[in-house]
Formats: sequence, C-alpha cells, structure tokens
Amino acid sequence: MLLHSNPLFSIYFGSAEDDLDPDSYLTYPPGIRLLSLDPYKKLKKRMQLDRLHFLQQIHSDKGIVVAQEQFEPFKVPGDYLITQEKKTGLGVMTADCLPIVFYDNLNHAIAIAHAGWRSSIGEIAVKTMQEMQQLYGTKGEHLRVFFGPSAKKCCYQIDNDFLMHLESFSFSDQVIFKDDGGMRFDLPLFNRLQLEEIGVPKEAFKMDYNICTICDKRYCSYRRDGNKALRQMTVVALK
Ligand SMILES: [Zn+2]
Repeated sequence: MLLHSNPLFSIYFGSAEDDLDPDSYLTYPPGIRLLSLDPYKKLKKRMQLDRLHFLQQIHSDKGIVVAQEQFEPFKVPGDYLITQEKKTGLGVMTADCLPIVFYDNLNHAIAIAHAGWRSSIGEIAVKTMQEMQQLYGTKGEHLRVFFGPSAKKCCYQIDNDFLMHLESFSFSDQVIFKDDGGMRFDLPLFNRLQLEEIGVPKEAFKMDYNICTICDKRYCSYRRDGNKALRQMTVVALK
C-alpha cells in the first residue's frame, strides 16, 4: 500500500494488488456501506476515513462537489470530485487513464480527476481547477498536483486519426512522438501543459507516482490486458 501522507492530507496510490474487478463493484446493490467491504476497509483504517466516494466514471469533463451528503457509490455519473470535508475519501478507478489529485494549501481543499484521453481532450483538469477557483478562490500558486499511475509515452500508441483531437491545442506537437515503432502520446504531459497554460506553476507538479501502467506489470492496464484488466484505485482525503 503506497501512501503519500503529510499532516494535512493523504493520498493512496493503488496498484494491481487492489484486485478490483469493475463487474463486481459496478453491481453493488443500493444502500451498501462501501467502507464495510474489502478492500476499502483496509483503506478506511489506514487513511482514517469516515466516508468514501466514487463516481460512475463515464470519460466526461463533468464532476461533482461533495458536501456532507452520502450518495450511492459508483452510481452518480462524472469524472471529478471536489471537497473541503475532512476524512472524506475521493477516489477514482483506473487502468491506463490518469488519476490527477489536486490540493489547495491555502483554502485546504482537495479534488481528484479521472483523465483518460477523452476527458483530457475535454480539459477535465482545467475544469476541475476552475471549479475549485469558483468555489474557494483557488489559485495556481497554491496548488499541488499529483499524477498517479497511467499509460505513458513509452507505451501509449496512437494512430493518425487520433491527431485530429489535438488540433485545437497549441502544444499538440509536444505531446506526440514518432519513431520506427510508430506514434505515441504523452497523456500526463498533455494534462500538465493544459494546467500550466491557466497558471499552475511547474513546481506544483509531483510526478513521482506517475508510473507507466502498460510496461510495469504491478499495475492494471486496459491497453495491455483488454477486457480482463482489473482496476487500481487512487484516493485522496483531508485529515
Ligand atoms: Zn511504458
């Protein structure tokens, strides 16, 4: 269990050891207390959570703000979560998509985004940051942004059709690589450059946990394992 922890917040970066089968968690019956189930029970203890929230991830650019209400896990559609509530875990499930965790150290607020290529084209990281800005007055210089495990430029192959999605981005040539092995995409850099463009400084980004899910077999990868791929979770909570 890889836990990034400091006095104010903690982030859990999961791996294939989470052993999460999407078919099983998506079919949880209503009314279930997520924190009473394995493997969330272990997480609750380690992160001292009172609540834990996951959305029904739909590769969108939409998300929700979490207050004290409880909502059914995996049933509300969306791809980012924001809160100022303490002991409230915000989680995403991934297998190649990029988990992005935001911490505003002035307003003591957190967010998490599920950024696959579709959501990234929809600028989900920017929209998450802008919603924090509206809610709390969050500024780039107060943010720390952690990137979790995802498909990276060493392995993330794309074809020519993909390029049209990038046309409207001024930095598209920085995130595409061509060589004898074909064409590859830098998903983390694509999100990072979007955030830099709206004023998040370079030193805000913590990339240490951004390990490639495709070539590192400790992680779940849809591109490597197809439909049989399990999921890892990334969870952030204020203390
Ligand atoms: Zn790789």
